[in-house]
Amino acid sequence: MQLNFIANASMASASGRTLAVLDPSDGQPFDELQRSNAQDIDQAVHAARQCFDAVWLKTSAAERGRLLMRLSHKVAEHAEELAAIEQRDCGKPTKQARADALALARYFEFYAGACDKLHGETLPYQDGYSVLTWREPHGVTGHIVPWNYPMQIFGRSVGGALAAGNVCVVKPAEDACLSLLRVAQLAAEVGFPAGAINIVTGYGHEVGDALARHPGIQHISFTGSPGVGTLIQQVAAERHCPVTLELGGKSPQIIFADADLNAAVPVVVNAIVQNAGQTCSAGARVLIDSLIYEPLLERLGQAFEQLRVGPAALDLDVGPLIRQSQQQRVWDFLSDAQVAGIPMVAQGQIVDEAPESGFYQAPTLLRDVPVDHRLAQEEIFGPVLCAMAFEDEDHAVALANATRFGLVAGVWTRDGARQFRVAKRLHSGQVFINNYGAGGGVELPFGGVKSSGYGREKGFEALYGFTTLKTVAIRHG
Ligand code: NAD
Repeated sequence: MQLNFIANASMASASGRTLAVLDPSDGQPFDELQRSNAQDIDQAVHAARQCFDAVWLKTSAAERGRLLMRLSHKVAEHAEELAAIEQRDCGKPTKQARADALALARYFEFYAGACDKLHGETLPYQDGYSVLTWREPHGVTGHIVPWNYPMQIFGRSVGGALAAGNVCVVKPAEDACLSLLRVAQLAAEVGFPAGAINIVTGYGHEVGDALARHPGIQHISFTGSPGVGTLIQQVAAERHCPVTLELGGKSPQIIFADADLNAAVPVVVNAIVQNAGQTCSAGARVLIDSLIYEPLLERLGQAFEQLRVGPAALDLDVGPLIRQSQQQRVWDFLSDAQVAGIPMVAQGQIVDEAPESGFYQAPTLLRDVPVDHRLAQEEIFGPVLCAMAFEDEDHAVALANATRFGLVAGVWTRDGARQFRVAKRLHSGQVFINNYGAGGGVELPFGGVKSSGYGREKGFEALYGFTTLKTVAIRHG
């Protein structure tokens, strides 16, 4: 039985209710979580506020950095344990689960080093004045985390918030809480004061909503779907609470005829099958120069046919989807494709060892997807790649920009001038040229435009969002 973590103590929800935790690899329950309510959130916010006022505000930036570095080392020491927890809870193949645990350690390492480098400025002003700016923490920050990369998103969001001097109340997704509850325990073990990191589990519409509404929360960092992002903004707007939104994407990979296809093909495939396609930055559309459309589709099709899907512990190319409703969502998109006569180029294979009760979906490559079809417009959040051809650079840019999203874009070309031209014209928070964000890029600011959200996490840039700027003007002469 998993408990909430508030003020460095594990405790049951005031509701007395619990939720089952399912293993996506076989669909069977193996643990229970607290189904918390507004009372638990209130308790966590009070613990956080007390910590902020009594301890954290007085803790120097250097000391915050030392604590974060100790936590980074602790997470690295426990990487195998955390990966095993995440694997069972989220259905991640071993390689992915390990990569996520190490990314979490790396986020804490990065933000440990950043704590005492964040500072304000002195500004030129009228004679007789000195003017300076202070970067001050918001206070208690709320973090609503999705299920697809719980450890990574916790690392970038909570790591940045703590580094900037805030204390945190975290609401993980109901499908993916276990690793974060363990990380919060590890944080207490390395010396984080009671109330600095609090985790309250439960449903989004219950406990997530209570967190977003709580008047003691001074900033909300939300990662999730655009629909819930809208609700969070509406709730936050009522009390003018700042929000950072990391929402979904329908990211294009644009492949020109002069591209290095040997480099591009494995990256394009991985960008849609990593984490079974449940990645906000998944390269979900491949836009291909008509000069190489047929031969490249053939190569991509061959690569898709090699892909193997199965239980997370078998560490194949692709694990299960997170839950049955997500599997149904992907099936609905694929059945729409069939109805619309959209041709399928190739599919991977689900291995015989995969239990019927697991939430599996074979990676699927579709071609000639019309730009206005929902398959080309909406986030599927499964391993489905939609291919379409373009005639020239203008056409490629128009297709790439033709969704409501703008998170990531990949551009594959050897033409240096085109690399810059296209990067400038893409409506996207990130543009990767001849790569697709190798290694996760902890150092690189990340976020979207349009319905992909606003504000930036990751990198040093995130620290600005987790602070508020105070201008101090002194008249002395
Ligand atoms: P979701 O929006 O349903 O849930 C996200 C979180 O919000 C969960 O913790 C959930 O419990 C909570 N929530 C749900 N309803 C709520 C409410 N009414 N009030 C407050 N909180 C509520 O999304 P999901 O299914 O967990 O994740 C998938 C979506 O997240 C996809 O659209 C994906 O692209 C997006 N995502 C984006 C990024 C990014 O960085 N841009 C990263 C990961 C996931």
